[in-house]
Amino acid sequence: MAIERTLSIIKPDATNRNLTGKINAKFEEAGLRIIAQKRIQLTPAQAGVFYAVHKERPFYGELCEFMASAPVVVQVLEGESAIAKNREVMGATNPADAAPGTIRAEFAESVGENSVHGSDAPETAAAEIAYFFSGLELVG
Ligand code: ATP
Ligand code: MG
Repeated sequence: MAIERTLSIIKPDATNRNLTGKINAKFEEAGLRIIAQKRIQLTPAQAGVFYAVHKERPFYGELCEFMASAPVVVQVLEGESAIAKNREVMGATNPADAAPGTIRAEFAESVGENSVHGSDAPETAAAEIAYFFSGLELVG
C-alpha cells in the first residue's frame, strides 16, 4: 500500500445544490486529505479535453455541456491507496447501483449528473492532476 494522489471534481449538479462541504466531509472521514482545491468554471472545450477518452460515446456532448454548465470544484486528494479509496467513497457511476453511504448514493441525480469525478488509475491521476494544477499548488 502506498500514498497516492488522485484528481477529484465536484460536478455542477453538486455545486448548484451547495454540497461541496458535505462531499468534502465524506473524503476527510475516509482518511483522504484535500491537498489542493479550487472552484472554476470550465468551458465546454476544456471539459471536452478532460473527457476526451469518452469522445466516441453517445453522451459525450451532453457530458461536456453539463460539466461547463456551472462551477466545479477541482481538487487533489492524497492518502493510502487514494485512487481506489476515492472511487469507493464515490460509489458506482449510476447512483441506482451505488452502495449505501457513498456520495453518489446520497447525492447524485442521475448517471450523467452524478456529483463527483475521480481518476481511475495512477497514469490518469497524474495526467488529470497536471491538467488542473501546477506543482507549486500541491501542498501535501
Ligand atoms: P468519472 O470518470 O466522472 O469519475 P466514472 O469513472 O464512474 O465517472 P465513466 O465511465 O468514466 O464513469 O464516465 C464518465 C462520466 O460520463 C460519468 O461520471 C457520467 O457523468 C457520464 N456518463 C457515463 N455513462 C453515462 C451514460 N450512460 N449517460 C450519460 N452520462 C454518462
Ligand atoms: Mg471515469
